[in-house]
Amino acid sequence: MVGAPGPVPRLSLLGLLVAGCPRTPQVVPPPPGLALPEQGLTAGDLQEIRDRVVPMVEEAAGRRFDEVPFVGLGTADGLARIVREDSLIVLGGVYGLPEEVVHEMARTDPLQVSSLIGKYAPRGGTLYIAPDSIEAMVAEGVVEADQREAVLELIIAHELTHALQDQEQDLVEQLASRRDDEALRALQAVTEGQATRVEELVAERLGHTELFWELVELQGWGPEGLVEPMAWPIWAQYGQGRDYVIWLEAEGGTDRVWRAVREPPQSTTALWRPEREDVGLAGPPELLDGVEAVLTAGEWVALGAHLGEWDLRRVLYGVDDEVLDDALAPVRAGSRLTAYRDDRRCEVWVVVLDEPAEELVDLVRQTAEQVAQTLEPAGLAVADQAFTALPADDALARVVAPAGPHSASVETASVWMARGERLVVIEVEGFRPGLRMERALELVWSRLEADEPGDH
Ligand SMILES: [Zn+2]
Repeated sequence: MVGAPGPVPRLSLLGLLVAGCPRTPQVVPPPPGLALPEQGLTAGDLQEIRDRVVPMVEEAAGRRFDEVPFVGLGTADGLARIVREDSLIVLGGVYGLPEEVVHEMARTDPLQVSSLIGKYAPRGGTLYIAPDSIEAMVAEGVVEADQREAVLELIIAHELTHALQDQEQDLVEQLASRRDDEALRALQAVTEGQATRVEELVAERLGHTELFWELVELQGWGPEGLVEPMAWPIWAQYGQGRDYVIWLEAEGGTDRVWRAVREPPQSTTALWRPEREDVGLAGPPELLDGVEAVLTAGEWVALGAHLGEWDLRRVLYGVDDEVLDDALAPVRAGSRLTAYRDDRRCEVWVVVLDEPAEELVDLVRQTAEQVAQTLEPAGLAVADQAFTALPADDALARVVAPAGPHSASVETASVWMARGERLVVIEVEGFRPGLRMERALELVWSRLEADEPGDH
């Protein structure tokens, strides 16, 4: 469904299925190539369903529409194009990168177009539905034929929520002005969490709760959390996002949710520890400047970011929830560098804790079985060994690669090192740095030690 094989995620465009520029003319002609000849489902049918759902969305979200968006017919491909266009604007804004670089990053993104059923489009404020995606679900037996209309009601309710978010605050601009991709993920979890929550409440009103959870299951998660490990990022955004929104509702009703849309948390740590929104803010990304060049020479595109619980929890998936909560509670700050060069990638993390960091290395070691299970269908295997080249309280080297003979270009290797209350992680994909891995680790540790006096 998603993602690169490595334990550390690629930058993903997935989930950027969000809104756009506000001003909404009543009827907007769809962009060329997006409209379908009207077959079974007509635009009239869609407006009828929309009109039925609008008051329920307004009640569940606690906001009224200034103007109700037009619901147009589209195709899955057309919707995917809108998602990509939005994503490029957002990524260009967050990273301040030239368009061709963002295009290159987006090129390898694993967005699955066939899964797109609906999308609220920016620049025109139209909401598109792809009937071919629903027909595909019916053909595959995923939903019953007589549930088509109910599916439409729920999808339109979800997308209408994005239109309300866009009315509250220009969403593409809001997304594009995040300071890094960690803050971007946090905002997306708020917007997708709210849209999912409103969809759920509308489903309850319409007696479609069972169908709501069936649709959620297609995303790889359920009422108890993540079901399909490869769907981790989707679950974190939609499922954990929904949990976060429910927490906000309990705190201060829908007004509190809207405050989070306008002033979103900067760190994904807020999704799991909403009472501690400030965690993860003190990381110094510049500490990692230039580490990629030590791993291998060449023209890298390097992105610095803060590191919140998202990254750590994704890697530590499979660890018991309570153990994980306890282990991550002492995390004080984190930084991440992600660098891209041709078909190569590297990622460098520094995590600062208030307690010894070695437990985190041990928890990573404990995930080996879970990682192996998750990756087996993709023909990948995981191999762990002790990392002893440099002094550490605990250190682990992990390689994820196709089972059997293979080249370095399909390999992902990482080293996890704990010293005192600090954890350093370096992961490389598509190349073997050899001794340069040690040199890069030494550089990070020496900078950390130099940084120490001012840090405490
Ligand atoms: Zn959405």
